[in-house]
Amino acid sequence: MTTSPGTATNLITELVIANRILAREDVVDAYGHVSVRNPEAPERFFLAHSKSPALIEAADIVEHTLDGQALKKEARPLYLERFIHAAIYEARPDVIAVVHAHAEDVLPFTITKAALKPVIHSGAFIGAEVPVWDIAERFGDRTNLLVTNMDQGRDLAKTLGDRNVALMRGHGFAAAARSLIDVVRMSVYLPRNARVQQKAMQLGELKPLSRGEIDARAAGPGYKPHSPETQRAWQYWAGRAGCGELLKD
Ligand code: MN
Repeated sequence: MTTSPGTATNLITELVIANRILAREDVVDAYGHVSVRNPEAPERFFLAHSKSPALIEAADIVEHTLDGQALKKEARPLYLERFIHAAIYEARPDVIAVVHAHAEDVLPFTITKAALKPVIHSGAFIGAEVPVWDIAERFGDRTNLLVTNMDQGRDLAKTLGDRNVALMRGHGFAAAARSLIDVVRMSVYLPRNARVQQKAMQLGELKPLSRGEIDARAAGPGYKPHSPETQRAWQYWAGRAGCGELLKD
């Protein structure tokens, strides 16, 4: 009944569940994607071919290399923005899972000077600083805003640095974490945190979490992938996403 995100045997199933959860929680829609590094070959990662996350099954998962190409000959089209994942894995050996999404609630923070901050306890994961990457700074004002090659992916990864989340101007966000469940949880709470922050800013001065509070949340036992608290959330979200039966695999 319990799952072990990150183990090789059920990793593809976990990735399918992650896709369904992100779709059900409105983090992704027709667009957006989630990937996980191959624990047995860290220079490769698993990501679906170009298909909406709500519809993804195990057979849709394609192994990619760190240059953003399919490991084996692949007839199905790949995601245009797979380079986001490739470049973050390349730059960050500590990162095991990546999400890219366009969740609407974060977008105001990508096009104004208002900095997104962790303001609720469940938003602590995003870290004290959330940088905004502007594709135009390096690639000019004639791009379509999408990350469609390694140069652009690497530039985004550079802005991300050693942080957990980077916003992308007029586009969305990229989130990186040390496990699949961590990146899903962060991606679920990121738009909620943004929504609360935006409402709070209409009421008055903001009081974000302190660095000490952020660190204390991250160090807490409830944040470990195998903790009862984490498994509780994974089971709840999987059930809501209609794929609770996959937890038994
Ligand atoms: Mn995108």
